[in-house]
Amino acid sequence: MTQPNESGTGFAFRLAARTGRARAGHFRTPHGEVQTPAFMAVGTLGTVKALDPDDLHAIGAQMILANAYHLHLRPGDDVVRDLGGLHRFMGWDGPILTDSGGFQVFSLETLRTVSEDGVEFRSHIDGSRRYFTPESVMQIERNLGADVIMQFDHVIPGQSDALASRDASERSLRWLVRCQAEFERMRRDGETEGAGYSDETREADGGPPPRTNLPAAFPPTVTTSSLAVPEDRALSSSSPQALFPVIQGGIHADLRREAARSVRDMNDWIGYGIGGLSVGEAKPDMYAMIEAVDAELPDDRPRYLMGVGFPEDLIEGVRRGVDLFDCVAPTRMGRNGTAFTSEGRLNVKRAEFRTDPRPLDPDCECATCRRFSRGYLRHLYVSDEILGLRLLSLHNVHFLTALMRRARAAILDSSFPAWSEDWLARHHSRTALTP
Ligand SMILES: [Zn+2]
Repeated sequence: MTQPNESGTGFAFRLAARTGRARAGHFRTPHGEVQTPAFMAVGTLGTVKALDPDDLHAIGAQMILANAYHLHLRPGDDVVRDLGGLHRFMGWDGPILTDSGGFQVFSLETLRTVSEDGVEFRSHIDGSRRYFTPESVMQIERNLGADVIMQFDHVIPGQSDALASRDASERSLRWLVRCQAEFERMRRDGETEGAGYSDETREADGGPPPRTNLPAAFPPTVTTSSLAVPEDRALSSSSPQALFPVIQGGIHADLRREAARSVRDMNDWIGYGIGGLSVGEAKPDMYAMIEAVDAELPDDRPRYLMGVGFPEDLIEGVRRGVDLFDCVAPTRMGRNGTAFTSEGRLNVKRAEFRTDPRPLDPDCECATCRRFSRGYLRHLYVSDEILGLRLLSLHNVHFLTALMRRARAAILDSSFPAWSEDWLARHHSRTALTP
């Protein structure tokens, strides 16, 4: 439909079809193409909890997310770098996005101090004092080596007033300028060692000392040629990265539009993050904010709605022009025994499922639903068997992945408006009945 935009860095986005505001596209990255709209499963600590890369491939997951804050604290982004970067570290050869840690740092209400320069906080693991700046976060994300890296931004609670929202949004813009300058500096410095999170910065940050006494089997810089699969370029740690800005502005449409325009005019970005939503605001506010930025963002770039991933929010987001989503909900809820199904949410621990021979969701084709009954899954949960957590996480991630595949097919054959109306009507009538 539109010409692909070629950035010359291994990234491109092409719209294949559009129905209303909903878009079906192809997002090319150095580690493969993502058919959008798409849901990204969250692997906060370098693992989508309870699922391995084979599971994710079988589910049809295309791109996954990891978190800079958590991986910086443990095991350390330098450790990930020394072990070849995130793709090799976690054995995932597809596209990866890293969140900057802004959301995590600003969630540490009592543990942080914000200044124009950056944020001082205490590690939730050992209480050690840490300091994030736009520059240090770029270095951390460079070390981790994901395909898409997010800017460090100032995240505020969902109900923040216009003054606080403007302050955070404008600071995020100033931090974006610094992120971009550091990103460009690292790119200019090329793949030279030390282009990532520097030892000097690490010392100032109070982080662990650089690893200098690695055994010979694990040289400080692992090159693809030194590993067992020399031709495995997909796992190389030195591929190009794309920096995505984050549009902030709270629940104030004028601020959102202003932020979107300023970000757009600053640079020809490869894609755009829409941040600071699904953080306690009302759903109609969230949907209105997506609509507010829609008209301001370039059509031919992917839009990523950060941290949003309940089934109805995915559909509502796609209807408003969003291409990428992520959320911990499917795995977190799976570990709590709750499954997304085409008939609403289902808590597998309930006594009524004790002798239920049906699958979790009769419409689901995942490996859990093909093989196991609700009665068996309930038994696993009640008995604290780890397989129960795994099977439900697998089903939930499959559910959202398949939902986006279905939405994409509906956009491609122009049935999306009717299909999404019908899906939402059924969803709302069923969730109203679900206790
Ligand atoms: Zn299933």
